[in-house]
Amino acid sequence: QINQDDEQEGGTQSTSHDNSIVVANHYNKLQEKGLAERFNSKIFYLRNFNNWIKSMLISDYLEKIKDSMQHGSPLRVLDMCCGKGGDLLKWHKGRITYLICTDIAEISIEQCRARYEKITANDPPERKSFQAEFFTADSTRDRLRERYIDPSIELNLVSCQFAFHYCFESPKQAEQMLKNVSECLKIGGYFIGTIPDAKDIMKRQRAAQSDSFGNDVFNIKFLSDPDDLPIFGAKYNFHLDGVVDCPEFLVYFPAFVKLAKRYNLKLIENVRFEDYFQMKIGKGRGLIEKMQAAERFSLNGNRNLSRSNEEEYKHAKDFLL
Ligand code: SAM
Repeated sequence: QINQDDEQEGGTQSTSHDNSIVVANHYNKLQEKGLAERFNSKIFYLRNFNNWIKSMLISDYLEKIKDSMQHGSPLRVLDMCCGKGGDLLKWHKGRITYLICTDIAEISIEQCRARYEKITANDPPERKSFQAEFFTADSTRDRLRERYIDPSIELNLVSCQFAFHYCFESPKQAEQMLKNVSECLKIGGYFIGTIPDAKDIMKRQRAAQSDSFGNDVFNIKFLSDPDDLPIFGAKYNFHLDGVVDCPEFLVYFPAFVKLAKRYNLKLIENVRFEDYFQMKIGKGRGLIEKMQAAERFSLNGNRNLSRSNEEEYKHAKDFLL
């Protein structure tokens, strides 16, 4: 049940800007946790599963791009709403040439840059495995291109993981986000992302017959009337055990597809995680096994590390979020 008025702004009382400040403050405050602490978290396996999905998605599209590219051409990527740089190792392993990282949370950007420096620390300075730039921006309001070191840059891939839904606060913000996606993308380039499934959220809300539902790991509390949702600004508070606690917006997928078309973006695929898992498990079994081995290693081996298994531990960490 979604109103068809597509020009409607957010359906909630607070101004649009307040939400961005709340979201930025929330992510800025999130502490980097050690692996031992993360392992003890209730969502350890969920995070690793999400990380595996992102790894498969990213490697899939990097391969597609490489297959259609002339050998030796540069491969440039925008990681929009990059957070603390959870995908940096994926870009490193994917052998890209250039990465632009941007996020609304300034502290996350600093941590992302530091992580990049660590990953590329052993590369000769003039021949880093990949070059990168970092800046703080609101992708739903700012024009990112103006902030690039080289605004004439042509991108092969734009990635927005677990963040695109923030732009569904208003049509204006969704348009700016999509403009940012498409503006520097080469013809034939790709936009990939992961978002919560609005249909699934609504199914759960109907089943719960309440504005607030969840379990011991997550909770969703509707801040808009679930029986009279606007297309943009359908707001709820999302709480995920120790990681997320901030306002988010439902993405009404047909509106997203329609709006994306205006920016010359054509939908190629839209798959739920459970189906994507089935599609990719053949190719990704090796990575899952490495992750599971790392999980077991963390469980058994991270208390009294000897010098020799310290190296193994560091290696295992690469496969965990
Ligand atoms: N993409 C990263 C990942 O997969 O690890 C981080 C995902 S985190 C769930 C969502 C990120 O979106 C946060 O880092 C947050 O600061 C960022 N974000 C939210 N709204 C944003 C906006 N309007 N512009 C830029 N970044 C935003």
